Amino acid sequence: MQLSDDDLSQLDEEGLLNFSEADLRRISVKLLADLKEARERLNQNSHNSSRPPSSEASWEKETQQEASNNHSEEIEDNKSSNKNESLPVDKLDKESKQPSKNETEELRKPGKQLGAKGFGRTQKLAITHYQDHFPQSCGCCQQLLNATIKKATTAFETIDLEWADEKAPGLRLTNTKHTYYEISCHCGHVTLKEPHRSNSLDTLQDITCSQWRLVGPGLASLIICLTYRMRLSRERVQEFLWDWLGLQLSIGTINNTLHESGAAALPIQEELVKEIVASQQLHVDETSWMELTTFLWLWVFSTESVTAYWIATRSSELIENILGQTYCGWLMSDGYQVYRKYLNRIRCWAHLIRKAQGLQEGLNKDSQLFGEKTLNLMGLLMTAIREARTHPPNTPLTEIYQTQLIAYRQLCEQMKESTHQKTKALATEMLNDWEAIFRVLEYPHLPLTNNEAERALRHWVILRRISYGTRTEEGSCVFAILISVIETCRKRQQSPWVYLAAVIHNRRTGITVPNLPIAKGSE
Ligand SMILES: [Zn+2]
Repeated sequence: MQLSDDDLSQLDEEGLLNFSEADLRRISVKLLADLKEARERLNQNSHNSSRPPSSEASWEKETQQEASNNHSEEIEDNKSSNKNESLPVDKLDKESKQPSKNETEELRKPGKQLGAKGFGRTQKLAITHYQDHFPQSCGCCQQLLNATIKKATTAFETIDLEWADEKAPGLRLTNTKHTYYEISCHCGHVTLKEPHRSNSLDTLQDITCSQWRLVGPGLASLIICLTYRMRLSRERVQEFLWDWLGLQLSIGTINNTLHESGAAALPIQEELVKEIVASQQLHVDETSWMELTTFLWLWVFSTESVTAYWIATRSSELIENILGQTYCGWLMSDGYQVYRKYLNRIRCWAHLIRKAQGLQEGLNKDSQLFGEKTLNLMGLLMTAIREARTHPPNTPLTEIYQTQLIAYRQLCEQMKESTHQKTKALATEMLNDWEAIFRVLEYPHLPLTNNEAERALRHWVILRRISYGTRTEEGSCVFAILISVIETCRKRQQSPWVYLAAVIHNRRTGITVPNLPIAKGSE
């Protein structure tokens, strides 16, 4: 370093403006040298310096691994596309877009390329579109640049899908060749246009959403659809793309596409949480989930306009992180105690009825009777609740059925002492959760079951059986956010695929992610 901390602490903007030109030149040389050295140090890690891997925090290691994975996909995609992109670019001018046979041979030796991965894409698709990217103004003096003297520096192909429109129904596969140029300014500075890469903090770990991808946003959206909505394995997706679109993609590329898409969609989580917190009525449920060898839960939060999922442990932490301490809408759940702190909690009767039925069909006489009495009361009340929805009674249902409720409560107190485990359990549950269970009598418009949430889990329970869950924390995160977007769009009767393509496109180009589409009919 040429400037000490002490030197730097004496320099400020005002001082610089007062320097003579000669002084300014001298100090600039030192500043530049220091900046370069600082940048190099910043990029040092165990892979490019003597810094031992053990000196890195665990998340840094993962981050690098991910970054190198991403990079390798870019390289793989790049290699497999037109080969003249990394070459001196006079050859890459507009006139010579279709390289002659000689050129191609010159650029690429036959057989497996040095360093090429075995599973790399060898397919060569015809280019359907060309897109050139130039810098607009000089990176140094800000003057507008003249694109007549340009030099191509990078080129790659992106395969995408165009959706049907009225004129041309069906799907069209496009292959666009993107060429990036540098332009020299009068001031001597050379400004380079590069594909946009967003590597912001709100993505998953360090996944880059980049324009430099083989798979375009529309095609990525189809891959998401096949994987989650159609529940196809990566291998089946690969088979489908080849059979129906004549497209060869490696499993690695398919997997990277899913992970990048999950990272792209991550900011939507905030919108989902906001809607959940603001909801009047919320259904929550959870089902077991395996993340490789870790036993976790797939949680669903379903409101009138949102269906959102998380993979987490079965502790109160997730609920608290999402709902905060003060959620005051109606919360429908099972009897699991993490929900108990929320005031306006309601209970699913279907679970209780199943338990009562189990007792009634059992062999213990007291239990049979308790089961029967529970079923009778709940049956009676359900009829009254349904009736009250269309014809609201003048007296509250709690008053009308007061005698029956008091008698049943006494029975529960008695059965709480039963030696029969399941009888004791149901009686205790009834007493502990009495208010949540019978709150629906005061508000008959509330639902009696948690079917809403259970239905929202069913599709993914089948997928779990096919895929045996997820394999990494990142994979779980990708899965949860993408299926949240899919199910929320479907709930709103909007296409998840058009929306996801827009999200991926925006994140790759550095534009804010669009809001979730609003429900059809309320536009
Ligand atoms: Zn300039």
